[in-house]
Amino acid sequence: MKKMDNQENLLRKLPGVDRILERIQEEQEYTGTPKSVLVDAIRFVIEKKRVDILQTKTSDDLNIHQLLSDVRQKIAMIMKPNLRRTVNATGVVVHTNLGRSLLAKEAIEQVIEIASNYSNLEFDIEKGQRGLRYSSVEDILCEISGAESAMVVNNNAAAVLLCLETMAKGKEVIVSRGELVEIGGSFRIPDVMAKSGCILKEVGTTNRTHPRDYEEAINENTGLLLKVHTSNYTITGFTAEVSLPEMVKIGKKNNLPVMEDLGSGTFIDFSRYGLTREPTVQDSVHAGTDIVTFSGDKLLGGPQAGIIVGKKEIIGKIRKNPLTRALRIDKLTLAALESTLRLYRDPKNAARCIPTLRMITEPYEQVHQKADQLIRILEELHDPRLILNLKTISSKTGGGALPILDIPSAGVGIRIQDMTADSIEKAMRAHEPAIIGRIEEDLFILDLRTVQDNEFSIIVDALKNILA
Ligand SMILES: *Cc1c(COP(=O)(O)O)cnc(C)c1O
Repeated sequence: MKKMDNQENLLRKLPGVDRILERIQEEQEYTGTPKSVLVDAIRFVIEKKRVDILQTKTSDDLNIHQLLSDVRQKIAMIMKPNLRRTVNATGVVVHTNLGRSLLAKEAIEQVIEIASNYSNLEFDIEKGQRGLRYSSVEDILCEISGAESAMVVNNNAAAVLLCLETMAKGKEVIVSRGELVEIGGSFRIPDVMAKSGCILKEVGTTNRTHPRDYEEAINENTGLLLKVHTSNYTITGFTAEVSLPEMVKIGKKNNLPVMEDLGSGTFIDFSRYGLTREPTVQDSVHAGTDIVTFSGDKLLGGPQAGIIVGKKEIIGKIRKNPLTRALRIDKLTLAALESTLRLYRDPKNAARCIPTLRMITEPYEQVHQKADQLIRILEELHDPRLILNLKTISSKTGGGALPILDIPSAGVGIRIQDMTADSIEKAMRAHEPAIIGRIEEDLFILDLRTVQDNEFSIIVDALKNILA
């Protein structure tokens, strides 16, 4: 009985929205905040309090200062963008969940220029008439890849769908069984094939496919030979695959086009940096492949985009496909892509200026130095509860590229007295901006390969807060 009375009493004492709104609107800080935001925040806090009282989670007397403080916190949360920066200390360079690639400075400047001004997006300045959206990147793509023609769409998944639909709708597409990949986010070659209206014709076995498998599968309803770069796994052991030049030969003999989905796609030979060689776009074009597709934001290090290079005649047909309009690339992306591609004219320059490439190719010694430096800065916190260790670890390229490659890297292992690795991980993630590391053998680790120098202060702040 007593409890009920108290409950009713508390509910009755809950202030109305208007009363709190009045108080909040008096505060200088909120003069520019939309009223709808203030009201939403107040309603949320009052409702939560009401539920707490009803569930007898609280029997404390109502504290208006606490309510106001909750409202302020809620307003701050509503006003913050949902999409915000994080610190990637996972060591996975092309981390799809954390935004894949960071743009080069040149690309960012060009995005600002094009976003703030009108542009010749679809206007031929010389002729004074309508132009093509793709012309800004076609030249440079042809120049770097050696292809006859090029175009770009929203992402590589769209590029694959569009190319299949254009070249082989209603026809059979021959693919090796070992190349029927699934990449993250439910992109599966058999499903994309079905969506594009093509009929998947699997040949060979999981581990071995031979030229005769393709030859024997070809019939009057065959529309295309497709090769998919198995970017996120490798088949080792007793294996055989048909090389691209061999596929092109079979295609020519049977008057069939050959397409390759390169997935990541790179213009750079990674073996020059002591890493595994990935097939390059140039390799694919030189082999005589009719159409090659790849991503803009994986190993290429540009914005999200799907790049299509290949034979002029086929690209012409793809441009006329009504699907193209639905998958078209946005002008800001186009601006970033063109600037990124221009950096590839000099591969050494590309490796220096494009963050994705810079991080993948950064020598171990340099990452080690960075880890050392971070430890020295953190030691200045002079907190005996904080135990730091320099660890030799492995980074990954991510983005479903170079899947078995471990890039030697250096990390800072962080132990804090009376805290588990899990709770440190959680606290670092709760910091603003969130710091995402990883746990290995019960130790929370920051992999310095993907941490930028200007992010050291964020890490210091986070640890200061955690220790406070
Ligand atoms: C990543 C990938 C895609 C999809 O590329 P997005 O740019 O993410 O749409 C398609 N095929 C392969 C083989 C891939 O690795």
